[in-house]
Amino acid sequence: MVIGLVAILLLVIIFAINTFRFTSKQLARVEPIEKIQLDDRCTQRFISAVQIPTLSYHDHIDTLAFQQLDTLFQKNYPLLYARMHFRAVNQFSHIYKWKGKDPSLKPVLLIGHTDVVPIENKEAWEEAPFSGKVKDGYIWGRGTLDDKINVVGLFEAATMLMQEEFVPMRDIYFAFGHDEEVGGHAGAKSIAKYFEKEGIQFEYVLDEGLVILKEALDGLEPPLAMIGIAEKGFTNLKLSINLEAGGHSAMPPAKTAIGMLSNAIANLSNQPFPARIDGATRGLLEYAGPEMTWLNRALFANLWATQSLIKNSLGKDAAAAALIRTTTAPTIFNSGIKDNILPSQAVATVNFRILPGETVQSVKERVENIIDNESIEITVDEGISSDPSPVSSTTSFGFMVLQKTLQETYPETVIAPGLVTAATDSRNYAPVSNDVYRFTPVCINRDDIKRIHGSNERISVDNYHDAIRFYKRLIENSAR
Ligand SMILES: [Zn+2]
Repeated sequence: MVIGLVAILLLVIIFAINTFRFTSKQLARVEPIEKIQLDDRCTQRFISAVQIPTLSYHDHIDTLAFQQLDTLFQKNYPLLYARMHFRAVNQFSHIYKWKGKDPSLKPVLLIGHTDVVPIENKEAWEEAPFSGKVKDGYIWGRGTLDDKINVVGLFEAATMLMQEEFVPMRDIYFAFGHDEEVGGHAGAKSIAKYFEKEGIQFEYVLDEGLVILKEALDGLEPPLAMIGIAEKGFTNLKLSINLEAGGHSAMPPAKTAIGMLSNAIANLSNQPFPARIDGATRGLLEYAGPEMTWLNRALFANLWATQSLIKNSLGKDAAAAALIRTTTAPTIFNSGIKDNILPSQAVATVNFRILPGETVQSVKERVENIIDNESIEITVDEGISSDPSPVSSTTSFGFMVLQKTLQETYPETVIAPGLVTAATDSRNYAPVSNDVYRFTPVCINRDDIKRIHGSNERISVDNYHDAIRFYKRLIENSAR
């Protein structure tokens, strides 16, 4: 009895000490900067870019739309085109170089993409997707969040700095791909290859990615600005079964193609990949935790004891579950042609989003072990597969500059590293920088996130203006 009480007391003390020592990771002594005034003309320039339907397709490209966008940019940002060295890659992807004063400093690369995804259901839009209409303080249109905000935001910021006769200390590069939404082969992949060939290494790279999310976590009052320090990998495994004969459905054998393949899929769904709280997601809890209400703070400060509890709670929500494990999603299942014929073939595709620490190969091996059936052939779709990105540092110059700039321009937010569960162009840039970050400067809620690639994509005018302020400050802070 007494021993039990002592043990409980000891546990409470350890919890309390850890919670007490779980102090803020926000930068000390960073003051918010004054908001620069922006006029209606900069909003109009953004709208004119949104109105051009630079859609991405797998089999062709609308050269006219991309040509129009180029012409528009040259008209809207003449100073930038005059002062930055311009290079086209595969015609519609572009590199801009702003020469710095000190060639001994490593350059910085800020990237984005100019293409947008097609409109699935026009009727579902409240305002036409390429209208750029301003209503209730929002600019409506495909590409407002993904990803013209980043491209135009950078153009506006650089132009303002040039008007102030600002010259960066280090070289600042912009690179915008035109086919991110269909894999980035002609854009980001080719751009990254060019930098590699030229032997250019960047201090850090920033791409689109995570956002400033309102009501991000239970127990966290301020919006959470998440800087993606890693990105999950991606693969499709094709499971195929090819029996010598299917047979007649009146005399079915014990094992059928459909039965065996269904079994394999069921086994995969019943044995999810192990959950892990490490890397970027652990970083998220370590940065957000100290800013939360005391109960959550105590939970996150004592992961040694609370980890399984937290894993369980995260596992209940699909978006949160994707942060802690490699996900398994059966996406295609094909077999059979007639109701009274047993098919000899069945084919399924299972999509995996791979947590850093695992690889396409290790996923394949685990799947082979679980299915454990020699009749089922498992093949990797090599063309679209990618291993997870390396995990970038949270103590690098790049992360520090991003954190400082965020605290200066969005002082009401909490800043944390995070994991990107979707695929972005940034995965191509690992060879040219150790520190690749993924962040889009918009403050939105979960409902807004559904608009990206969905219907009614829009951005508030305030968000657009804040993005310009963020990029301007980021370039100033980076350029030193
Ligand atoms: Zn995008």
